[in-house]
Amino acid sequence: MIRFEKTVKHARILNPLKDFQEETLTFEYRTDPLTGRNTTVIGGMLNYIKRLLISDENLLNSLVEKTRVNCPFCPENIQTKTPMFTKDFLAEGRIFVGDTVVIPNLLGHAERSVLVILSKEHYLKLEGFTAKLLFDCFKGGLTYLQRLKEVEPSIRYPVFAFNYLPPAGSSIFHPHMQVLVRDRPVYLAKLLIEKSQTYWKRNKSNYWSDLLSAERGGERYLFEINGVEWLVPFAPLRGANEVQAVVRGKSNLLELTDEECLGLAEGMARILQFYHKEGYVSFNAIILSGPTDEHLDYFDVNLRMISRPGIQASSFTDSWALPYLLWDGEAAEEPERLAERIRASITK
Ligand SMILES: [Zn+2]
Repeated sequence: MIRFEKTVKHARILNPLKDFQEETLTFEYRTDPLTGRNTTVIGGMLNYIKRLLISDENLLNSLVEKTRVNCPFCPENIQTKTPMFTKDFLAEGRIFVGDTVVIPNLLGHAERSVLVILSKEHYLKLEGFTAKLLFDCFKGGLTYLQRLKEVEPSIRYPVFAFNYLPPAGSSIFHPHMQVLVRDRPVYLAKLLIEKSQTYWKRNKSNYWSDLLSAERGGERYLFEINGVEWLVPFAPLRGANEVQAVVRGKSNLLELTDEECLGLAEGMARILQFYHKEGYVSFNAIILSGPTDEHLDYFDVNLRMISRPGIQASSFTDSWALPYLLWDGEAAEEPERLAERIRASITK
């Protein structure tokens, strides 16, 4: 029922780097099996842009030191410089889980927008995002969602989002996760929920479960931890090193057990470890959820994560017109090749 459709197209050029010999370029158009969105796979692109994806260490270190001064999320400033929940929402003002702290957002992106500060350290290399830190971060986010459900049940569409370091869109260096909650889903969640429902009606089965069955043990499959399965998507949404995870049979974040939270945390830590080994310092991740007040048989909680460009004086970004304004996807490497590299890296 799941179709992995692709078409290969070619272009011929006379290449100045090879004494103007004729060369054939390959473009592979892949269709996302759920949404139908196109992603063009351009083999070899990752090597071509790799120099723009790694960081200038001196520039990075100087930014870490500059931003540490007066950072509101560093432990000595949290009590005096971060917002608190109103007393009617939470008498203690802030939520503490392990080393993580949940606070309201000063300038939020949604009507109930909060942050989870997930480390006492001001700066973490990607290998520093441990499963323990991420697990506490998710538990902090879920504690907030549980309280929100008691107080305002109509605000029922949550998203967990990570923007780490300025290339990923973060204005604050200190590691944190956004929890965005609204009475309406973000566009991608709405699209995936609607398409999953259509798939359910047409095929009498759950798309996510069918996707995992089709991918399990295949060339894009990575690993499974506590009911959370990890893979490289057939048609990535965005740029580089995109990885997907699905929490089997759970349609919203409040349904997750501690074991499943750990499955997400441990899996993310493994992928971030891979990004670190590849020389990356910045990433985005999202975890999409169905509504928190009902179970949907046709939708599963799912995660996407990508590495972002390095910190460099050139300010290179991979958020260029094609993905950002034209809404098309592009993969700088064959997804199967990426999956092979991740598997090789994490078993070392
Ligand atoms: Zn800090």
